[in-house]
Amino acid sequence: MTTPPFEIEILRGRVIEVQRDDNRVRRGSGLLRGMAVIWKHWKESFRLNRSYRQIHGTFTIEYPEERPRIPEAYRNMPILLYDDETGHELCTSCFQCERICPPQVIHMTQAKDPATGKPVPAVAEFIIEYDACMSCGFCAEVCPFDAIKMDHEFELSTDDHSGLTVHKAQLNRPISYYEKIAPTMWAEVREGALKKLQGNIRRRPDVIGIAPHLTERIAARRAELAVQAPASPPEAATPAASAEARKLSPEEKAAKLAAIRAANAAQASDGPPSADGASAAATPTDDKAARLAAIRAANAAKRKQVEEQARDGSGEEA
Ligand code: SF4
Ligand code: SF4
Repeated sequence: MTTPPFEIEILRGRVIEVQRDDNRVRRGSGLLRGMAVIWKHWKESFRLNRSYRQIHGTFTIEYPEERPRIPEAYRNMPILLYDDETGHELCTSCFQCERICPPQVIHMTQAKDPATGKPVPAVAEFIIEYDACMSCGFCAEVCPFDAIKMDHEFELSTDDHSGLTVHKAQLNRPISYYEKIAPTMWAEVREGALKKLQGNIRRRPDVIGIAPHLTERIAARRAELAVQAPASPPEAATPAASAEARKLSPEEKAAKLAAIRAANAAQASDGPPSADGASAAATPTDDKAARLAAIRAANAAKRKQVEEQARDGSGEEA
């Protein structure tokens, strides 16, 4: 039986015939070279490396007992910062991180003043879908208030997928935590971030903008201080110092303004009678209306005078 000629059908491309030097013994030489490389690295693995500086090339560590030091700029998942002292979150709900996030995994709502319904510079809810975040760090780079930073924590594996939709309460970390993991990077922005935070706290009524797990504690502390306040001598602090120490809430400001207006109105009604005998009980509104009527009357008289002069002039010419 004869073997049919072996045929290869190549639809496109060229067949390149490789010429081999049949005089050289090549069989097994590649394998030996590979073995030599393995031997070299295996031998090195027995060397005692006393520091990372002595290690070169790829190496393994005894994780989790042994862990490499993570560089400051390392980034895994985003976190939100709050001030250790006041409990206030640095985020103002400016929406810049939400807009820039490439996979659109940031979702937030802005806090509102319950008394007026107006938005305030604080965030009500902040959610990040960790399972779709790609750790690009754009959100941290764009944040003008240094409120969102990249965490170093990487052991996030879970069998609960829904747990990777992370809410504000889980995202919150104190500034001291970030200062510990990235001291140089925080030192660069610290002053500006805290200054902006102080400005925003003044525009936040009540406990709005305070980290959720601290809200109750801070509200209780404030109530405690309010109870203690009458016991202390009222003249102890200078007016400027007390104004600085106690920021008025919007309701308090409105009440204060109303009281000032009422006092001004009462003062106006108690004033001396005017020269033309007008009633002393006239309100500022009445006074304004009377002045307006007088101006209008003067203007009308002036117009009439001009018209008469024009008429007289035309009569003489005729
Ligand atoms: S790190 Fe990137 S992907 Fe993740 S939330 Fe921030 S902007 Fe979005
Ligand atoms: S984290 Fe920063 S960028 Fe994002 S909404 Fe808050 S303040 Fe704006």
